[in-house]
Amino acid sequence: MKIFGSPCIPVWIPVFALFATLAPARAQNQPAIPAPDERYKADILVIVAHPDDDTAVSTYLARAVFDDGKRVAVVFTNRGNSGPNAVGMEQSKALSDVREMEARRSLSERGITNVWFLRGQDTPTQDVLHSLETLGHGEALEETVRLVRLTRPEVIMTWMPAYVAGENHGDHQASGVVAIEAFDLAGNPAEYPEQLTPPRWHGGVGNYGEGLRPWQAKKLYFFSDASHPEFLKGHGPTYLASDMSRAKNMTYGDINRAAWKHYATQIDFDEKVLSYYINMPEYLVLG
Ligand SMILES: [Zn+2]
Repeated sequence: MKIFGSPCIPVWIPVFALFATLAPARAQNQPAIPAPDERYKADILVIVAHPDDDTAVSTYLARAVFDDGKRVAVVFTNRGNSGPNAVGMEQSKALSDVREMEARRSLSERGITNVWFLRGQDTPTQDVLHSLETLGHGEALEETVRLVRLTRPEVIMTWMPAYVAGENHGDHQASGVVAIEAFDLAGNPAEYPEQLTPPRWHGGVGNYGEGLRPWQAKKLYFFSDASHPEFLKGHGPTYLASDMSRAKNMTYGDINRAAWKHYATQIDFDEKVLSYYINMPEYLVLG
């Protein structure tokens, strides 16, 4: 009781009263947590390995964007730093700088501008474990989960992670493995919780916590790099380059050709082969 007789009384009571007065006002004025950034919302997220892998589903993507009004984003697990250069001397890191730009230009031809590149190495292998090693499996998965949570896709599309007769590229299969794992993990709040922690105050500096939200995509679709992908026919939807885009008043093959021309470093074949790639039927199977 003696405390009430202390010199603190005149200070303590007004300070307490001040906080008691301010607290409700602060709570009322606290800004609402912003909604996820709609600029990066995707209906469809494509997860592939190399710049130009997107051409395997070019007809589907052009149709989705131009005629169905879907928002598409793309993740490449590497920047294509290996392989021949059909137009110049650039190789290695310089080639990856060229190919990133080729991919961005090619995808923009199909109305796609939300494009991310992971830090994997373009590894000419047919061994998925070798490619997962050079990709940096753990880091790539963490980043892919982050991008799934950022883009919040309804559908994820990726290479079939299976060994089939064809190009059978280990990097393709590795991107499929990471895509499947990210599909399974991104909705679980126990996975990478630092991505889901709200920042103390998003308008300030020195924050930690990335402010994302868990996200569970609804469907996973695969496509194949098989040289004869007809075995997929009838197991899912098929998309034909000869079909017309109503929005563009041209065939999807015409759109595919315009998209392909940006991948100039990769066109080390003749018109006959290019025409085959541009017009090949696209088969999807549900994962
Ligand atoms: Zn590839």
